[in-house]
Amino acid sequence: MLERLAKTRALVMDLDGTLVLGDRNVGGHRLLPGSAELIARLRQWDIPFRVFTNGTIHSPQSYAEKLRKAGLDVQDEEMMTPSSAAADYFLAKGIKRVLVLGNEGVWRPLADAGIEVIDSRTGNSDAEAVYVGWYRDFTMPDLETAAHAIWKGAILTTASNVPFFATSDGRAIGASFSINAMLRALTGARVLVLGKPSRDALRSAARRLKIKASGIRDITVMGDDPQLEMAMANAAGAVSVGVTTGLNTAEMLAQLPPKTRPSLIVENAAGLLQLLEQTR
Ligand SMILES: [Mg+2]
Repeated sequence: MLERLAKTRALVMDLDGTLVLGDRNVGGHRLLPGSAELIARLRQWDIPFRVFTNGTIHSPQSYAEKLRKAGLDVQDEEMMTPSSAAADYFLAKGIKRVLVLGNEGVWRPLADAGIEVIDSRTGNSDAEAVYVGWYRDFTMPDLETAAHAIWKGAILTTASNVPFFATSDGRAIGASFSINAMLRALTGARVLVLGKPSRDALRSAARRLKIKASGIRDITVMGDDPQLEMAMANAAGAVSVGVTTGLNTAEMLAQLPPKTRPSLIVENAAGLLQLLEQTR
């Protein structure tokens, strides 16, 4: 595994529970041990990286700004959310009109990519896809509009479909998971996840890192959530590094089935930095 780490061409790092712990509203970020040092070393070594959160509370630019304020040197273009990957997916599929259930953090990357965004609160259900993200202000009329769009043929896509994420106050509920469950129950539609752990999400990150499909194996993915980062990395043959600063202990990670078990378990970003230093 150290040999594979030595060949690492790029890193994809999770945010919550991995580099930082935010509060429930993700207003403030507390850096976890080694996060700032790891990023500084990656710059020295010229290893490109992306910080890839599964949150869509903020736009990538807004996340990056908050991280810089918290002391993490992340530039706007180095930050990704599921909406960054979703924009790539919609463009690749020729989908031009998307009904969004979500706040600005959810729709901004789509609009920036030139996709027509329909606000669910307008009641307009004329769309090729429904895209669900972070949306605490969700109402029944939103549900109705999205259901009508799906009944008329729109595909159901989402930023994330995990029930919880780690915060400094413990588990917080994933807003999109709950909305997706309602839409699936109502329409019978399949939920297509465009953020982690989808293959499209890692491909989108690789493209931004200027790594071809054949080089994805040489990406190291670090995260705290086996269902997200480990599943995504393992499916693509990339190196998966699990940290114990978020949802799981080392014992829990070690007992997981192969699909979600990390290739390496470290305590935190400082642990990965130490291993990378050994290989250089
Ligand atoms: Mg996480």
